[in-house]
Amino acid sequence: MIHEQSKPKKIVIVGGGTAGWMAANLLASTWREIDICLVESKQIGIIGVGEGSTPHLKLFFDSIGLEDAQWMPKCNATYKVGITFDKWSTKPGFGAYFHPFAAQTDDIFTLPLFYKNIQARKHGYDVNPHPDHYFLQSYLSRQNRAPLAAESFPFGMAYGYHFDSALLGNFLADYATAKGVSRIFGEVEDVLLSQQGCIEKVILNDGQHIAADFFIDCTGFDSLLMQKTLKQQFKSFKDTLFNDAAVVLPTSIASVLPVETKATALSNGWAWNIPLLNRFGNGYVYSRDYIDANQAESELRQHLDMSDSNTEARHLSMKVGRLEKHWHKNCLAVGLSQGFIEPLEATAIALSFNTIAQFIQLYQRGNFSNQFEDAFNLEINSKFDGIKDYVVCHYKANQRSDTDYWRDNASNTKISDNLNKVLQLWKHSPNFVEDMNAHKLVDSYQAKSWACMLAGYGVFPEKQANTSVDYSAYHQEMAALDDFIRRCGMNFKQHHEQLAFA
Ligand SMILES: Cc1cc2nc3c(=O)[nH]c(=O)nc-3n(C[C@H](O)[C@H](O)[C@H](O)COP(=O)(O)OP(=O)(O)OC[C@H]3O[C@@H](n4cnc5c(N)ncnc54)[C@H](O)[C@@H]3O)c2cc1C
Repeated sequence: MIHEQSKPKKIVIVGGGTAGWMAANLLASTWREIDICLVESKQIGIIGVGEGSTPHLKLFFDSIGLEDAQWMPKCNATYKVGITFDKWSTKPGFGAYFHPFAAQTDDIFTLPLFYKNIQARKHGYDVNPHPDHYFLQSYLSRQNRAPLAAESFPFGMAYGYHFDSALLGNFLADYATAKGVSRIFGEVEDVLLSQQGCIEKVILNDGQHIAADFFIDCTGFDSLLMQKTLKQQFKSFKDTLFNDAAVVLPTSIASVLPVETKATALSNGWAWNIPLLNRFGNGYVYSRDYIDANQAESELRQHLDMSDSNTEARHLSMKVGRLEKHWHKNCLAVGLSQGFIEPLEATAIALSFNTIAQFIQLYQRGNFSNQFEDAFNLEINSKFDGIKDYVVCHYKANQRSDTDYWRDNASNTKISDNLNKVLQLWKHSPNFVEDMNAHKLVDSYQAKSWACMLAGYGVFPEKQANTSVDYSAYHQEMAALDDFIRRCGMNFKQHHEQLAFA
C-alpha cells in the first residue's frame, strides 16, 4: 500500500474518456514496470465533446513521443492559433478581438508597442490599442495560415489543436494498449475500502473484482471514486460562472479552413465554432437560470442558419467547479471528475495534463508515498482558480447590456480578490505589466492575455482631443509593425497545405 512507501505494482484507472486515456499513456510511458489497467463502461460512454485545446495538448503528445503527423490525420485534427471573441463588446471598433497563443515575436517586437499604445489610450490619446493589430497569430488567423514556420524562421510559436474527441479517445486507447495498458469493459458497481479508508478494489457489474495499489478516477462528472466514494468536497463556481448547460450541433465544413476557434456571445451565453477536417463543431453554452433548453437550441439553430435543418442537437448538463482535493489517500481524480471550468478558453485538457504530470513528479519524488499530497492539492487548486478568474473576467468585463444575463454578469460582485485586483490595476496602474507580475497575478495567464481581453473589449476611458502625442512616431511605429508581421507571415503555409501530411 502507498503508506508503506513502496512502488505500486498495479494502478487502475476507472474511465475511458480523454482524461482516462491521457492518464494511461502518461503513466505507461513513465512507469513501464507498473501494471496499468483501465476500466470503462460502454453503456455509460464518454461525454464526447471538448474539441479545442491549448498548447498543453502539444506538450502531452511531446511527452509520449508522438508527432503531429502520427495522430492528427486520424483524429480529423486541425491547427489552432487562438480564439476570436465576437460580440462580447458593443463598443464601436471593439466588436471582436483575437486572443493569441504565445509567440517569441511578441516579446521581441510587438508587445512593447501594444503596451505603450494601451497606456497612451488610457491617457486619452487617439491611438489604436486593439490587440488584433499587434500579433503575428492574429495575422495568421486572418490569413488561414498554419502555425508551423519554415525552418529558417528564427522565432518559435506555441500552438494548439482542434480534433474529434471520440477519434482522439480511440487513438489514445490504441496507443496505450499497444504499450501494454490492459483494457477492461465493464461498469463499476461497488467500491471496497480498507479500514484506513483507502480504495482496495472496484467491483464490476459482471462480478469481477479488480484490486490495485492506486486508483485514478476518470469517471467524468460522476466522480465515482473521489466524490461519491471518498466523499471529497466539491466547490461550485456557479456564483461567478453562471453557465450550466450546452447544446451541440455540427455543421458542414467550409472550403477555407480556419486556424481559430470562434466564441460568439449570444443572448444568454456564447456559441463555439470549431473547425475539424470534416465538419465544424458548434455548441451554445448557456445558463438554465436565464434560458431553457428549447430556447437555447432554437437560438443556436438561428445563429448557425439551421432553423429548417433536421440535424439532431445534443443537450448536455455541466457541473462547473472543482474538488477541494484532487489527490486523497490512494486515489487521484483527473478530468471532469476533478472539476470543470466552462469551456470558453478550452482549458480542461490542459488541466488534466497538468494534474497527471504533476502527480507523476510528486508521487515519485515522495518515494510513492503521500508526502506531497497537500502541496499537490494546493497547486492544482491554484491552477483551477487562476483559470477561473480569467474566464470570469470575460463575463465581468463584458460590454453588452441587452439581457439580464449580461447585465447580471457585469454587476456581479462575487468575483475573487485577485480578479478585483487585476481590474483595479487595469484602470489605475501606470505600468500594468510590471504590477501584474509584482502582484503574482500571471501564474495562469500572462499579462498579455489579460491585456488582449480588456483592450479587445475596449475597456478604456473616453478618448480626449489631445495634441501632445507624437503622431508621426506613432504612425511610423505602426507601419513598421505591420510590415514586420506581414513579412513574418510569409514563412507560414496555408492551413490546408500544412495539413496534407506526406
Ligand atoms: C460543453 C462542453 C464543451 C467542452 N469543450 C472543451 C474544449 O473545447 N476543450 C477542452 O479541453 N475540454 C472541453 N470540455 C471538457 C472535455 O469534454 C473533457 O475534459 C474531456 O472530454 C475529458 O472528459 P473525461 O474523460 O473526464 O470524462 P468522460 O468523457 O465523461 O469519460 C468518463 C468515462 O468514465 C466512464 N465511467 C463513468 N462511470 C463509470 C463506471 N461506474 N464504471 C466504469 N466506467 C465508468 C465512462 O464510460 C467514460 O469512459 C468540454 C466539456 C463540455 C461539457
